[in-house]
This record gives sequence, structure tokens and C-alpha cells, in this order.
Amino acid sequence: MPWMSPGKAELGMGAHSGLATTGRHAAGGYAHGPAGDGSGAAAPGSHVPRIYVAGHQGMVGSALVRHLQARGGGATLLTAARAQLDLRDPAAVRAFFAAQAVDEVYLAAARVGGIHANQTRPADFLYENLMIQCNVIQAAHEAGVQKLLFLGSSCIYPRLAAQPMAESALLTGSLEPTNEPYAVAKIAGIKLCESYHRQHGRDYRSVMPTNLYGPGDNFHPRDSHVIPALMRRLHEARMQGLAQVAVWGSGRPRREFLHVDDMAAACVHVMDLPADTYWGMVQPMLSHINIGTGTDVSIAALATLLAEVVGYRGKIHFDPTQPDGTPRKLLDVGRLQALGWRPQIPLRTGLAQTYAWFQAQGDAYRGAEQ
Ligand code: NDP
Repeated sequence: MPWMSPGKAELGMGAHSGLATTGRHAAGGYAHGPAGDGSGAAAPGSHVPRIYVAGHQGMVGSALVRHLQARGGGATLLTAARAQLDLRDPAAVRAFFAAQAVDEVYLAAARVGGIHANQTRPADFLYENLMIQCNVIQAAHEAGVQKLLFLGSSCIYPRLAAQPMAESALLTGSLEPTNEPYAVAKIAGIKLCESYHRQHGRDYRSVMPTNLYGPGDNFHPRDSHVIPALMRRLHEARMQGLAQVAVWGSGRPRREFLHVDDMAAACVHVMDLPADTYWGMVQPMLSHINIGTGTDVSIAALATLLAEVVGYRGKIHFDPTQPDGTPRKLLDVGRLQALGWRPQIPLRTGLAQTYAWFQAQGDAYRGAEQ
């Protein structure tokens, strides 16, 4: 089987003894393991749900695996690393689903990157994301998978969308040109989920997260997002005893940040909602749900907070000759809150936890090689 993999070591999923496999689905040596400690195991004879997390080695996918494991409930987690299952390959994806009797899918696999990567490889971002989504969603449908959660991004909204950005802002204006191909792929992902729901009755849902941060993030100096980039720069400035650190722009733009463990909790919350509740909250052709905190912070305040967390006591210098980008980017999270979910991790706590994780990696964090 092309996706055969020991899996365990890659995931750090702990002991795989006492797997909650159903036996009849035991084809292939893909990584599978119990969600939770087994205390909430399904009753003998009852169906044990099989949950596939696509992209489990990424920042969000690994947080989803942590959350599903901690939740318990006797489900079986299925994962397959890219080397075992390239999601751009339709035949391989179809074979995986045909063999694994999946019940639920979290689609957290994607080609993801910063502005530089998006601008220099637009074809990759469009092609790979479209292929991953089309292959997984169609193969899931063909295999009879009833539940799927697709992860999009807040970049689906128009560049000049009113703030905070409500779900209804989708397709009301031009996109930000720097990541338009990526955003178009993500919009197609939402529309795929909606269309399979409308045509086939599949319960395929979509969530649009705000900016995420946390363990597993990319700390590459050029290709990373603002929190890991600034955290690394301030850390290195402290280590080198630099008196000053420069931050691009005026510091005035405001952004929203969500810890990836909150993101995972929100995804599972949305996925576990009864179908009537979810589809009662959304519309057939406007079916996605924003995931965020509903609060934003200025880049200047974020930089000050990060300096405190990192222990950097030098001066932070804002360079207003560099572009600021959009003045404000905040999601309207009214739908999510009405569905009963709120974040649990305050920004300072989340940054401190992320910095502890970053330090514990030594030189082995993502993006360290550059
Ligand atoms: P990562 O880059 O951390 O993870 C993406 C995962 O997808 C990786 O495990 C990667 O595998 C896997 N993957 C990519 N291409 C393939 C492929 N062809 N076959 C198999 N696996 C593949 O991204 P995030 O976890 O940050 O993002 C996950 C989702 O969340 C994405 O849909 C993204 O749009 C969304 N999101 C993220 C935000 C953020 O701030 N990070 C904000 C908003 C949305 P490999 O490890 O081999 O590269």
C-alpha cells in the first residue's frame, strides 16, 4: 500500500497498543491510533468512528491530533504523511479512502506560505490546493464519507471588506493580489463543500480561521507570519545583546491572532455540532464559519508583548517607510459565538507557551535552516 507507514514516530502519538480498529477495515499499515486515553472507549459491538486528519504534521493538523487524542471518546485517528500519500495524486487518494472506511475528515492539508512564497509560486499555490481539495472531497464522497471539515483562510475575503469581516463578505469584491491564487483555491474549497451538500446531501462544512500561531509554526525569517518572525528576531536580538530591533511599518495596523490549540478546539466544536444546528446557522450557498477571537491588537502592542515574553529589553524601532498593509483585519465571529464557542487562551499566555516551545526545539524548529 502506498500509504503504509509506521506513523507512530512521526506523530509522537504515544502507544498504539489497544488500537480502536474495527478489524474489517484493517487494510494497510497507515498510522492509526486511539483518540484519547481509551477511557471513553466505545461499547463492545458499537461502531468506532474513524477520523482522518489530513495534514497531521502541519501546525493545525498536529494541534487537531493533540486535541482529538485528549478528547477521548473511543475514535480511531487515521493519518498518512505526504511520503505515503501525496494528496495531489487522485488515484492514491481514492485508494486510501476506498480501503480505510473513514467516517470523518479534517482537511488541514494545504500548500501554505507567506507573501513571498505566494508571489513567487502562484501556480503551485493554486494547483496544489485545488488538487488536494478536489481529490480529498471527491474521494471522500465516493467512499461514502458523510462528514468533512474543510479549513480555509480569512484571505478569502475582499481586500477592502468592511471590518469586522462577516461570512457574507465572501465574493463581494476584489481579493488581495499578493495571495489571490491561494484565496481562489480556498474559495473553491468552500464551494466544493457546499456543492456536495446541495447535490449529494453530504455534511461537508467549512471554517475560515484568522491568523494562527503556536507550536509547530514556521519561524523562517522571510516566509513566516508576524508572530513567529518577530518572536525569532527578538529572541536572537536578546541572545546577541542587540540594543535595537526594527519592525516594518508604523506599528499601527491591527490584527487578530488565535492560538492553534484554540483553533483545533473550535474545529472539533464545529464538526461535532448536530447537522441541523450547523445547517440551520448557515445558508446552502454561504455555509462557512469564521474562527477567531473577535478582538484585535496593534502590531506595536504585539511587539511590546512579545518583547516582554522573550525578555528582550532593547528598543523596538518602527520603520514607517515600509508598507503597513491593511489598517485592520478582524473577523466577525458572531456565527461561531452563537454556536457556543469562545477561545480559552489569552494572547500573552499563548505567546509565552509558544516561546517555551520554540526554545525547547533548539535549532530544530521549522524555518531554522534559513
Ligand atoms: P502547514 O504548512 O503547517 O501544514 C500543512 C500540512 O499539509 C503539512 O503537514 C503538509 O505536509 C501537508 N501537505 C501539503 N501538501 C500536501 C500534499 N500534497 N500531500 C500531503 N500532505 C500535504 O499549514 P497550517 O497547519 O498552518 O495550515 C493548515 C490549514 O489551516 C490550511 O488550510 C491553511 O490554509 C489554514 N490556515 C492557516 C493559518 C495560519 O496562520 N497558519 C491561518 C488561516 C488558515 P508536509 O509537512 O509534508 O509539508
